[in-house]
Parts: sequence; C-alpha cells; structure tokens
Amino acid sequence: MLQRCRRENIKIYTMPKKAGAKSAKAGQPVKAKKRINKAKPVKISSEPKAKSSRRFSRLRGMRDVLPEEYKYWDLVIKKATELARAYDFKTVKTPILESLELYNKSTGKDTDIVAKEMYSFIDKNGDKVALRPELTPSLVRAYIEHGMFNLPQPVKFFTLGPIFRHEKPQAGRYRQSYQFDIEIFGEENPVADFLIILIAYNFFRELQIDVQIQINNIGCQECRPEYIQKLVEYYKARGNRSKLCNDCKKRFTRNPLRLLDCKEAGCLELREEAPQVVDYLCDNCREYFIKVLEYLDELDIPYSLNPYLVRGLDYYNRTVFEVWPIEEEENETSISQQGALGGGGRYDGLVEHMGGRPTPACGLAIGVERTILKIKEKNIPLKKDTANLIFIAQLGDQARRKVIIIFEELRRAGYRVRQAFTKNSLKAQLEEANRIGAKFSLILGQKEVMDETILIRDMDSGIQEVVDFKKARAEIDKRLANGD
Ligand code: AMP
Repeated sequence: MLQRCRRENIKIYTMPKKAGAKSAKAGQPVKAKKRINKAKPVKISSEPKAKSSRRFSRLRGMRDVLPEEYKYWDLVIKKATELARAYDFKTVKTPILESLELYNKSTGKDTDIVAKEMYSFIDKNGDKVALRPELTPSLVRAYIEHGMFNLPQPVKFFTLGPIFRHEKPQAGRYRQSYQFDIEIFGEENPVADFLIILIAYNFFRELQIDVQIQINNIGCQECRPEYIQKLVEYYKARGNRSKLCNDCKKRFTRNPLRLLDCKEAGCLELREEAPQVVDYLCDNCREYFIKVLEYLDELDIPYSLNPYLVRGLDYYNRTVFEVWPIEEEENETSISQQGALGGGGRYDGLVEHMGGRPTPACGLAIGVERTILKIKEKNIPLKKDTANLIFIAQLGDQARRKVIIIFEELRRAGYRVRQAFTKNSLKAQLEEANRIGAKFSLILGQKEVMDETILIRDMDSGIQEVVDFKKARAEIDKRLANGD
C-alpha cells in the first residue's frame, strides 16, 4: 500500500498519454501522434548525494545569531517589549513581503532605500513585490486596511522584526537587520513626538548606553516650499551646483532637502553657508518645535539641534530626530561616527497619501544589531537570571525514569527546574548544575529509588541531605523561601 512505502523507495511513473486519448471527439478520426515521453521511473530520495561536497554559506550581509549572542537579543527584545507595554503600545506583526508599490508610494521611489537598496522581485503570479526595507509603510497600510481610524485615537503600535536593505555590508550595517519600531496614529499634539523620543531615550539609558538626541523641524506643506526654493537658489548661485558630488547632483532635482545630509567633504563644505530650515518655519511649525523641545527640557533629555538633519524619506514633516551614541574618550565626549542607533519623526500626510483619512502620525525605529554592538563594545555586563534554579540529576536508568517524571511535575508546578537527562555521569551533571548557577540539586540514584528518598545537594557548600521522597516538595519550598 502507498502509505506503507518508505519514501526513498517510492517510484513514480509518468505515463504517456495515449495518442489522441483525451482530445478525440466522438466519431472523428484521430491522427496518431508520435510518442514523446517514454515512461521513466523518477526516484525521490531523501538521502543527500553521496559525492556532493558543496557547503552553503550565508549570503553576504546576512548574519546568523548564535546562542552566545542571543543573550543580548533577549535583553534588547525584553527591554523594547517592556517599554512598549509601559507606554501602552499594542503589538502588531505585519508581513515581511509587501507590494512593491507600497514602498514606491510611501517611502518614495527616488529615495536611496527604495531606488538603490530594496530587494524587489516579480513573484510567481507576476506581481511586483518587495522585502520590507522599513516598517512604517506596512503599519500605515495595516492601520488603513483594518479601518483603525474607527477605533478611539490615538492608535499606538509596537512591532519588532527584520528589514532588508541591499547596502554595502560593514560593522553595524547588514542586508537583513532588525528594528524595534513604535508608531502613534491619530495624534497631532507635540507631546506625542516627545513621547516617542522619551521611549527611545529610556530604551538606551536603561540598557546603560549614553545617547544624545539630534533633532530638527523640517516644516510643513505651508512653509517648506519656500525653504526648498531658497535652498535651490543657494545651490544654483555661484556655481555651487557643479561642486556637488554625483549623487547630490541627482538629488538636486529629485529631493534638494537631501543635499543637507550628504557626508561627502565637498558637499559638507558647501552646506555651511546654506540657508537653514528653522529660519523659514511658519508660526505653527515654530511653536510646535518649541513645545517638543520644552517637553524634552522638562525631563532633562539631552538633545542637540541639528539644522542639517532631514532624514532621507519622502513622508516626514515637522519633527525629525535621530539617536546617536555618545563616545567617551579620555575625559572628552563626542558623537560616534559609526551611525545612528535609531531615528524617526512625524508624518502627518502619509496615511491620507496612502488612501486613508487624514491622520496625523509619528514614529520611531531603533536598530537591534547596532544596540547590541554598543552593549558589547561597552562591556555592559549581562545580568544572569539564576534566581531559584533547581537542578535534577540521576544516576542509572531506573533513576532516570523516575527523574523525568519528577522534572515534569516540578516544571508544571512552576518551579525553575533544569536537567541533563542525556548525561550518565553524576560529575558531569553537577558541573552543569554549577555552570547554570543552580541553587541546589536533587539527586536520585539506584539506592534512593529503592529507599524512596532523594538527595538534596546545596551547590555552594556541597552539603547533601537525604530526604524522604514524600517530604521533598516541602523541603524544596523551605529552601527556596529561606533563600538558602
Ligand atoms: P532608518 O530607518 O534608516 O533611520 O533606520 C533606523 C535604525 O535602524 C538605524 O538608526 C539603525 O540603527 C538601524 N539600521 C538601519 N539600516 C540598517 C542596516 N542596514 N543594518 C543594521 N542596522 C540598520
């Protein structure tokens, strides 16, 4: 029977159609076709080819996170989740794959992220799709698609997941990286901008990373056009345009604001004399900016005004900010050159632009890998959570049978119990108990099984006590409660 066949032995025969068998209409003569497909058995084998020596490596710019590093991920994910909960952000997960058009329209098809770095392709249906290069567009799509404007506003989202950018890989810059992201929809009060900056600041401070917020206000639809015009005039004057780098020459026509955040030496020199956006803000934007800064002052959050900060995306208006690590070198503090740890801002027009109702919004994204690099670089010790760990060890197979039951009972009852069932040697098991920082070990050997007792070994002093099996649970509770 088919079900009983072992997979490697199944042979599938592809039978050739009999000439004209299906296409023949009743009563019509059928011309015999040449037989093309001869029946050939196709063997499906689960065995790897014996001689194949190909070893696969991960793709360039992609990383494996191994257990040693995952300890840091655990810490960062816990902190992000804890803060998101504390400020009442609701967790959402959106797909990694979205339509290409989503990013063309929101992030902007002329931005570096979309034009140069996005992984996009045509899927099997012929649809143009993309691996998300940032998280905000998916969250905006979800907000609109699920009619969340009908919910009490603001709607506050928290998400954490991978993004993909085909960048030149280097330390802290990968082709798949993870972001902790929060967004607030339906709130125009500047206290919302302050709140997301506060969360970013708390995130790093509580992970013991010193940061500074760089902040700017890039105006709104009312005041920005005038500023852009002044900027363009400045770059046109005195042949400045010809001194721009090749990328900026293109930016000049597509997105002149981006001339301000170019890192090329020549462009940096040119921008020193360029007009600054704060001087062209309308009253509303200026007032808004001052409010955000006042809130930051209230909590002494360190910030610096950066008139060149524009962020590269199309959708931002008013507040834009980035979080930068502060380096301490021989009594001097400076801003790291390695890159921002996070960034965000306000995007009041995006929801409407993407087909939703007019909805003010703001958000933030923090890079998980860069945060971890900082924690490692600063040798910030990870706290080991070894509180109340119990180890259970066995000697001999009869004891092992009993120990697997005791382990499950204790674990289900909520005890923090650990084991090494696969090990036979008691010495190796106790080494493991020491390694994980167990408070005490429960040891069961042949003799204990016969006597219905169990040994309790204090891992610090090495003192062992024989306890009647029926009284073991009470003794465990007593030791845990005493902190012995
Ligand atoms: P962005 O949306 O570009 O402002 O990114 C927000 C944060 O994500 C940055 O400040 C970085 O910490 C992190 N990030 C962005 N791109 C990458 C990347 N290619 N590799 C690692 N981290 C990244």
